[in-house]
Amino acid sequence: MAEKGRIVGIDLGTTNTLVASVRNRVPRIVPTDKGTLILPSVVSLSPRGDLVVGGVARDQMVTNPKNTVYGAKRLIGRKFDSKTVQALRSYYTYEIVEGPEGDAAVSIGGRVYSLPEVSAMVLGQVKTIAEQFLQAPITEAVITVPAYYTDNQRQAVKQAGQLAGLTVKRIVNEPTAAALAYGFNRGLDQRILVYDLGGGTFDVSVLEVKDNVFEVVATGGDTFLGGIDFDNRIIDFVVDAFHQETKVDLTKSPIAMQRVKNASEAAKIDLSLMQNVTIELPYVEEKKGRPLDLKVPLSREQLNSLTRDLVDRTFQICDDVLTEKGITRSSIDEVILVGGQSRMPLVQQRIQEHFGKPARKGVHPDECVALGAALLGESLDTATDAVTLLDAVSMPIGYGLATGRFRKIIDKNHRVPTQKSFRVPPPTKPGAPFIEIDIFQGDSEFIVDNEYLGTVKLPAAATGKRIDFRVDDECLLHVFLEDAGEPREVKLATRDTPEVLKKAIAEAMTKRSQQEEREAAEKGGLFSSIKRLLGGG
Ligand code: AMP
Repeated sequence: MAEKGRIVGIDLGTTNTLVASVRNRVPRIVPTDKGTLILPSVVSLSPRGDLVVGGVARDQMVTNPKNTVYGAKRLIGRKFDSKTVQALRSYYTYEIVEGPEGDAAVSIGGRVYSLPEVSAMVLGQVKTIAEQFLQAPITEAVITVPAYYTDNQRQAVKQAGQLAGLTVKRIVNEPTAAALAYGFNRGLDQRILVYDLGGGTFDVSVLEVKDNVFEVVATGGDTFLGGIDFDNRIIDFVVDAFHQETKVDLTKSPIAMQRVKNASEAAKIDLSLMQNVTIELPYVEEKKGRPLDLKVPLSREQLNSLTRDLVDRTFQICDDVLTEKGITRSSIDEVILVGGQSRMPLVQQRIQEHFGKPARKGVHPDECVALGAALLGESLDTATDAVTLLDAVSMPIGYGLATGRFRKIIDKNHRVPTQKSFRVPPPTKPGAPFIEIDIFQGDSEFIVDNEYLGTVKLPAAATGKRIDFRVDDECLLHVFLEDAGEPREVKLATRDTPEVLKKAIAEAMTKRSQQEEREAAEKGGLFSSIKRLLGGG
């Protein structure tokens, strides 16, 4: 008889992916075949034309930057035209292209891959690693995502798991998984704050833990704030210092930039332990046929002043999250640190200053998310040690109005599962045969700033019928329409750029001053995507 498949917990990170399993009721990280506990979340095309994953792929970042995909977590589940994707296009060394249905996709060796396909390669690799180590087939997984992920991003991760041959038993928020790793079976009655500063995202969640009931009371975050931003500050500093000394612009050489990037991250990590480092790169460039070496000293103090505003932003987000719910800083019993970047001494010092207590020791910032996911997986699989997770919607869900405004249907921090109903509005153009409801998720009152999730297309006769937005335990959205008195699930269609969004974008563009347009164009940000959307270049 075939052995029953096992369940694992997977922390699919921006930089690294970890897999954990529960053995004898204790969760443990599964080591890779290289003996490390992490697998770099990188996919690359080898010189032989094979797709490789993990450390081998990361090693090619310098020599083959165009065909090495990293940071996929920032792109997955996003539209090609979204602000985030457009900003990342100018920064990432590989090519980000438009995939089917307007999704962001990547080109590796001239072939287009969807982001779920890329993440599936990473998940497939950790599945193999776990199968070899545990000597058993792995068929199921709990996969973690940032609390601040939209419905689309969650759906895309779920799809990646399925493509990797896994039944995704649950998508769970990273801070919730971290809280589980901390509080599981400890009989606690505490209010905790999870401060998660990873490679690409910042998440903060406040949870109330009572025995094995974990209730999320508030969440917030920024999907564009993480270790990479700290690295960028060092990269700019190093490039400037080199330019001042040699008048050579390193940004013109992708290989030199990749080396500066790797060295900058390594220096940043070293500065968590040491007070001073020197970034040294022999033969980084040439000038008139002569090799140029790079040697830039960097102190912890300098790093702190280069990145202080980034750290400040994380605490501003913490305060916003607390204020929104009327929670005082002093009522937080424990602060749990998650994510590699939270190891920075400045972060730890600021935690102490801000919350009046040091962060909780003994919770491993890199491992706790995967460990918590494994614990949840085990509790779903067996009846013992049952865990109750009471999660919350991290960003409002609603639909776009013809004015470009966002009509909120489900509020932020609303406990899941939840359901909210409204009446189907009449067609925007009188007499039109169809009604199109474009669904968005985000904090802004304008749809142009929020993420487009999909469109419900209904016949005009549906006007006035009841429509339900249901958000399930995994924070995934399902839309139901009243049909002969019964709710019937409607599938969301996706469109490259819904009309209402095009209009909102056009209006946003005309409102901007010439100066702002120029700035945005320089950054390759919204303006260039707007121009392209409208066929202007
Ligand atoms: P994660 O997404 O949790 O794997 O976090 C990875 C990020 O943490 C990367 O940006 C790393 O450079 C950063 N990181 C890892 N270790 C340290 C450290 N000791 N000090 C500062 N940053 C670190």
